[in-house]
Amino acid sequence: MSRDVLIQVNHLKKYFNVSRGILGHHIEGTVKAVDDVSLSIYRGETIGLIGESGCGKSTLSRVLLGLISPTDGEVIFEGKKMNRKALKEFRTRVQMVFQDPYSSIDPRMCMRRIIEEPLRIHTSLSRSERMDLVLPLIKQLGFDEEDLKKYPHEFSGGQRQRIGIARAFILEPSFIICDEPVSALDVSIQAQILNLFRQLQREKGVTYLFISHDMAVIKHISDRIAVMYLGRIVELASKDELFSDTLHPYTKALIESIPVPDPRIHTSMKPLEGELPSPINPPSGCPFRLRCRHAMDICASSIPELREIKEGHFAACHLFDGRS
Ligand code: SF4
Repeated sequence: MSRDVLIQVNHLKKYFNVSRGILGHHIEGTVKAVDDVSLSIYRGETIGLIGESGCGKSTLSRVLLGLISPTDGEVIFEGKKMNRKALKEFRTRVQMVFQDPYSSIDPRMCMRRIIEEPLRIHTSLSRSERMDLVLPLIKQLGFDEEDLKKYPHEFSGGQRQRIGIARAFILEPSFIICDEPVSALDVSIQAQILNLFRQLQREKGVTYLFISHDMAVIKHISDRIAVMYLGRIVELASKDELFSDTLHPYTKALIESIPVPDPRIHTSMKPLEGELPSPINPPSGCPFRLRCRHAMDICASSIPELREIKEGHFAACHLFDGRS
């Protein structure tokens, strides 16, 4: 049975020209923050996007939100190509939950104004009609009507993130980009917020793109996982498949670096070696080759394409040349 594609990303590129002086040296170049990314996101799924900081995942999310335009490629949302004309409608259908709920909400606004603001901007509903939508949503998220009068500093970090989630859901979007939404929270609160995302998805049928640098978080929340390295997707598969038959050496390193909370359990956990190369001056060929134990001659001269190696399991690595 074919699945319903909500968003189709085709050969998306976002390049930035860089020109600056550092310690007396002048650096000029192009940063390929997103480099030829193609991806289908299915209605109702959670697709996890994992990679180290600087790999391009936040730039990709900003292009998908329509906040910055791509250098090349296209985004098709609910069957319509995203362009300036479609942007207004698109902005009501796509919302974002940010990493730091305190910096993404206005500290001078009370909770009621924070949550109903998208309704004031995008609809002509009266105040009482807006409250008819706000009240059931905040109750679902564990707040009381009295909380609506409070200001952000009166809430804990977890409560502020729930306010950010309420604001994202108030327009009933079909797609929500969650950009590191639990990384600023205590570990004890993280699981509560992740479970809340799942509960809201079951009830409202929303689709998530869930971005994190933390493989344990991505494993908890995702149906499928896309692994990004220096602007490219290097592996894409369902969560179960990705963990049971990991193909790409970078994904293996990320999985091996997941900490196990019980010190009595001995694991082969190894931190990922080396640093992400400078995106202004990436290595030739495979962008991961300087950190890869399996690098071969061909890896220095040819960029591996993302190919379907097994049904629904894609990888960009020369180890699988000839396998498909
Ligand atoms: Fe390693 Fe080569 Fe595969 Fe890149 S293409 S991940 S360098 S084996």
